[in-house]
Amino acid sequence: MAAGVDIKITKIPVSKLSEMSLENIPFGKYFTDHMLEADYINGEWTNITIKPYQLLHLDPALSAIHYGQSIFEGIKAYRNDQGEAFIFRPKENFKRFNLSAERMCMPAIPQELFMEGMRTLIELDKNWIPSQKEHSLYIRPFMFATDVMLGVRPSETYKFMILLSPTGPYFAAPMKILVEETYTRAAPGGVGFSKNAGNYGGSLIAARQANKLGYDQVLWTDAFEHKWLQEVGMMNVVFIINGIAITPSLEEGTILKGVTRDSVLTLLQEMGIPVEDRPINVDELIAAYQAGQVQEVFGVGTAATIAPIKEMKYKEHILQFNVDSWIIAPSLKKQLDDIRYSKVADTHGWMIKV
Ligand SMILES: *Cc1c(COP(=O)(O)O)cnc(C)c1O
Repeated sequence: MAAGVDIKITKIPVSKLSEMSLENIPFGKYFTDHMLEADYINGEWTNITIKPYQLLHLDPALSAIHYGQSIFEGIKAYRNDQGEAFIFRPKENFKRFNLSAERMCMPAIPQELFMEGMRTLIELDKNWIPSQKEHSLYIRPFMFATDVMLGVRPSETYKFMILLSPTGPYFAAPMKILVEETYTRAAPGGVGFSKNAGNYGGSLIAARQANKLGYDQVLWTDAFEHKWLQEVGMMNVVFIINGIAITPSLEEGTILKGVTRDSVLTLLQEMGIPVEDRPINVDELIAAYQAGQVQEVFGVGTAATIAPIKEMKYKEHILQFNVDSWIIAPSLKKQLDDIRYSKVADTHGWMIKV
């Protein structure tokens, strides 16, 4: 039992780890021995259990499947050379999870359930945190509606779960990006700021079309003019223009408030690079490019940390960047890695010990 939450723990008889290696495994494909599960019934969280990873037994009329009340988070834990494990800024994900829940008419998760549940689960499966360079343990908390009914209304019951997935290095190959002019990821008043399943479902077609044209991903633009820049794929985007770091601002609610984005903005400020968190449109970007002022463009998110963009296309304009000569993006990646693997002091209080 962990502090403040009553967790019933049933352990797996024999760890699956004995049958596999954690080296270079692909993202999101393998799961640890245990999972956490809790039910929201009669207005409270109950049946909090950690048990062997197993199938769910669900009614086909489950409301999450039909009407999409389903949210998630993505967090990583890292093991340092001394063998200790730390989770990167999980409290920020906890807060964002409850913001997503509120937007989707779902109940809040108590902090102890989210944080202590996660910590207890990781403690139990700590041998699954890889120790190789650039490896990590991906943590996936999620919640979905479990009422069995086809009437459209917020569900009265929910399930909260946490899965753990060891993952190898994510090689962020420099990307070719298409500025999206047809599809919309998020509009004011919509759900763009929340991490809900439907945001991903609705965005897949744009990436698929871009792939057909030889691009890796799209740069999302606003719903009205398709000019104001939002995010790159499922990452926040940062432009280094004339020595200034510019990233689209959050106030319209169309952009997800990334934990990596926030961390990167903090590090940029410490590096003495001015940060502008404001609307930026594609015309400004192209004018700056033509004036030779666009120095670096990259995506930022938990999966890749920093994903450089080597080419961008908007109408007849093709913007190309010499990624190998960049200074800021690689420095940010190194600083974040050094903090995560305890190579430097954690001066921001970002690392939470497992
Ligand atoms: C998760 C996510 C991000 C990145 O957030 P991090 O907290 O940095 O992982 C950015 N954009 C979208 C749409 C996302 O879903």
